Amino acid sequence: MLVGIGVSRYTPASMDDLYRDYILEHYRRPHNFGVIEDADASYEGANPLCGDRITLMLGVKDGIVDRVGFTGRGCAISQASASLLTDEIKGKPLSAVSAFRADDLLDLLGIEISPARLKCAMLSHDSLQHVLSDLGAADPTNTTPSPAEAGA
Ligand code: ZN
Repeated sequence: MLVGIGVSRYTPASMDDLYRDYILEHYRRPHNFGVIEDADASYEGANPLCGDRITLMLGVKDGIVDRVGFTGRGCAISQASASLLTDEIKGKPLSAVSAFRADDLLDLLGIEISPARLKCAMLSHDSLQHVLSDLGAADPTNTTPSPAEAGA
């Protein structure tokens, strides 16, 4: 008797589609997209390898990330990553935001990122480190991996 073939055939593909839909949903309707009023720091990051651009803006009040926004253009991974990152840091103390690591962002993205796409995924994280540095709140040990470091 042949049992279970019909089930196993569809499981990996649909899980993959589920993650892709999640990324595409953030890409189509990014959270925190737009310019914020009275930003305390902002940084425009670019990934020339793919043509991605992100301007990240933060407004801080009493040590808390009170307002966050971004604008930009680029591939789905770069824009979805900025959408997820801004959601994650909004309302958090600067100390928690500076401790937000590249690996945490990869966890939020929830898909395998190839070395070639790592720059896309990490553009928002890299921009965040520049903004935190402007605010005097950067953690120097919190670095953004480059594809070279990842073994590309
Ligand atoms: Zn890209």
